[in-house]
Amino acid sequence: MRRIRTIVSGSSGNATLVEVDGRFVVIDVGCTLRALRAGLRDLGADLDDIAAILLTHEHYDHVKGLGPILRAARAEVYASEGTLASLDKTDKLPSEVRYRLLRAGHELDLPAADLGVLPFAVSHDAAEPLGFVFSHGEHRLGYMTDTGQVEADARRNLAGCGRVILESNYDPQMLRDGPYPYLLKMRIQGRQGHLSNFAAAELAHFLIEQGVEQITLAHLSRENNSPAQARRTFLQYLDNRSVDWSVEDNLTIAPRLQASATLVW
Ligand SMILES: [Zn+2]
Ligand SMILES: [Zn+2]
Repeated sequence: MRRIRTIVSGSSGNATLVEVDGRFVVIDVGCTLRALRAGLRDLGADLDDIAAILLTHEHYDHVKGLGPILRAARAEVYASEGTLASLDKTDKLPSEVRYRLLRAGHELDLPAADLGVLPFAVSHDAAEPLGFVFSHGEHRLGYMTDTGQVEADARRNLAGCGRVILESNYDPQMLRDGPYPYLLKMRIQGRQGHLSNFAAAELAHFLIEQGVEQITLAHLSRENNSPAQARRTFLQYLDNRSVDWSVEDNLTIAPRLQASATLVW
């Protein structure tokens, strides 16, 4: 059984469970140990079923549960050299955990989970941030949040996934008219910031043409977006181009503060 479930998603925290037959990979640990346990329990699992923990980058919303979760789970932790180095500088990495390096473009087996993972570079203001494509037999799952733009590499790697989790962070008008200070607005919409609803829809359109079946929008901003607005942009984008893909059936949105429904990939 191949399942996926986000535990939290957005600038106040990110953590996702990817399952193959009862073994789990955790993407990012921006949640409490308690929330992680609850997420696993709902899938009939516990901390011992975690085969590996993967980190996309070192921003607080992705690592805030790092210490307690790494100590409790005792699984190997995979991240880029840049991510590990910047976490190490802040003394946040428990020393008893085993760390392994991910390099963009280098596919790796996670034997404990019967999964392959291909990390790819994303465009974000962190040391060495990554997106992932997971594979199990023929099946592929893409995961990309925290990127200011869609790099050619990411586009190529995500094509061919059956399901993708994609950042859809902000609505440009809500960001422009919203409460954030000028510099923060610039950062978010910059090349190393976050992906807009429009950019996510554009990428989704391309991926749908490449055969993607299901899409989950993730990392939505609380101030500069809403699930309804993200869905509306998505729908309009595809409608305007007469794309034959059922948003109703195939698009889900990851809730910010609670676990998503359990999805199959
Ligand atoms: Zn983030
Ligand atoms: Zn970030």
